[in-house]
Amino acid sequence: MGVATASDPPVRRPAKVRFSADPGPRTIGKGRDRVQREVVSAPPAAFPTTWWTPLADGRVQCDVCPRLCKLHEGQRGLCFVRAREGERIVLTTYGRSSGFCVDPIEKKPLNHFLPGTSVLSFGTAGCNLACKFCQNWGISKSRETDTLADSATPEAIARAAVEQGCASVAFTYNDPVIFLEYAADVAEACHAVGVRAVAVTAGYINPGPREQLFSRMDAANIDLKGFTEDFYHRVTAGHLQPVLDTLEWVAASKCWLEVTTLLIPGYNDSDEELDRMTTWFAEHLGVDVPLHFSAFHPDYKMLDVPPTPPATLTRARRIALRNGLRYVYTGNVRDLEGGTTFCPGCGAAVVERDWYQIRAYRLTDDGHCPACGTAIAGVFDGPAGDWGPRRRPVHLGGREEGT
Ligand code: SF4
Repeated sequence: MGVATASDPPVRRPAKVRFSADPGPRTIGKGRDRVQREVVSAPPAAFPTTWWTPLADGRVQCDVCPRLCKLHEGQRGLCFVRAREGERIVLTTYGRSSGFCVDPIEKKPLNHFLPGTSVLSFGTAGCNLACKFCQNWGISKSRETDTLADSATPEAIARAAVEQGCASVAFTYNDPVIFLEYAADVAEACHAVGVRAVAVTAGYINPGPREQLFSRMDAANIDLKGFTEDFYHRVTAGHLQPVLDTLEWVAASKCWLEVTTLLIPGYNDSDEELDRMTTWFAEHLGVDVPLHFSAFHPDYKMLDVPPTPPATLTRARRIALRNGLRYVYTGNVRDLEGGTTFCPGCGAAVVERDWYQIRAYRLTDDGHCPACGTAIAGVFDGPAGDWGPRRRPVHLGGREEGT
């Protein structure tokens, strides 16, 4: 969405946040209504960052992503959320969110990471790519960070995930690359209470920040938006190679990786490109990394392109399987075969899905095929969860006293 990139619609909430300069629990109300409520401290308007370099001409360069924005005093980068303030670059959206929602983990999409569990999802504003097909442009292209309605410290998010029974927290709706300091702090707070962290991202990031972000993630779904430099240049205003570098880095790390490619008719769906892409995928990422082919729907600046026919997804899946990939899925369409995990050992259907609903689950608690004993690649921890396809908005952040 974008973030895989942003295949999930954002949850917009009314601005209800009241900040206090006095953080911590506070007793409010009277008599039996007396309760302790958390009052959230105001997020800093300018959170200090480290990935920047002063230039000889007086500008300051942001080093987070390959854009390397060079900023004069008061200017913001292309992502809009990192800005020059004095002699440094600051993050202007630390602690601020466009909304929280409990989702099925399959919606990220992650099919091999704690199947059936729920994930507390959120995003902020802005993006460092400019995809013409963005399905979440209301947030990713937002220039109104004042509309970020929910606010929460990393610890409050981790606590909320526990309260909601979520196995993980996901940085999604927009790309965590641009708010990596906040994402990293939330991930660490989650780990302290036994909750895992998930990044949904386009992977357009430089090496140092890449390690800072992904070394704290337990799983990631990274977009591979196409397999030509021309596509990245014309359609996303980015470059292909940094994304390939991120994919290889994450595949070699402890972070569980799944990859999503949105297939856009006439842009990135030729047999030749899909063959080259999945051949590279098998050689550089490995045949056990799941690949999701997802259907495009006209949006944002690509309203003149038709939706992806289901047959295109099936064709892409066949090419990927032919090139050796073991776990290839289709998304954004109803396709029972394309939603099923097949055992690479004996071919048995071990997990059957209908959209985000698990219809049949036949794996052992540690992720082995019960028929032949083959280990299915992924992160498995006991029986599958039973969250199902539900989507539940959650309001975090400061609350008005007396409400
Ligand atoms: S993260 Fe934002 S400010 Fe930094 S280089 Fe990328 S687009 Fe520019």
